[in-house]
Amino acid sequence: MTKDKKELAVAALRNGTVIDHIPSDALFKVVDLLDIKSLTGSVTIGFNLDSALMGKKGIIKIADVTYPESTLNRIALIAPHAVINVIKDYEVVEKHRVTLPDELIDIVKCNNPKCISNNEPMHTHFHVVDRDNTVLRCHYCECLVTKDEVTLKSVSYTHLTLPTNR
Ligand code: ZN
Repeated sequence: MTKDKKELAVAALRNGTVIDHIPSDALFKVVDLLDIKSLTGSVTIGFNLDSALMGKKGIIKIADVTYPESTLNRIALIAPHAVINVIKDYEVVEKHRVTLPDELIDIVKCNNPKCISNNEPMHTHFHVVDRDNTVLRCHYCECLVTKDEVTLKSVSYTHLTLPTNR
């Protein structure tokens, strides 16, 4: 893709969020993570686009939605090099990479079937122990989960009402 065309593709969005440099094999996981199916505005999803940097990549353009930093940073779990562009009036007003948070609350499932978080109605809780290689440790059973083993919780957490009795 030429530079001009790339800028045009981003500029096509008047207001919203563009998530770029998503590895193709992580694209639909990011779609799930952001609960894009529940949005009512227009969303453009590019899959297997040519990328000089990555070979093939995915891109998601979401009109009229901006996400809190904490939500966007969850993307780092599955697409550590994703780049966030915030668009206002066709201009990129913000551009930054995602950053993996230190702790992940109710985002990842624990892979240990005996873990209390898989057997009680409760939130999962992971600590990031290796940021570069994406290794997580369960707060409850200390089970380690690496990037390739990550299973995202299927709850659409963006609309989740947190229990008040915690
Ligand atoms: Zn666990």
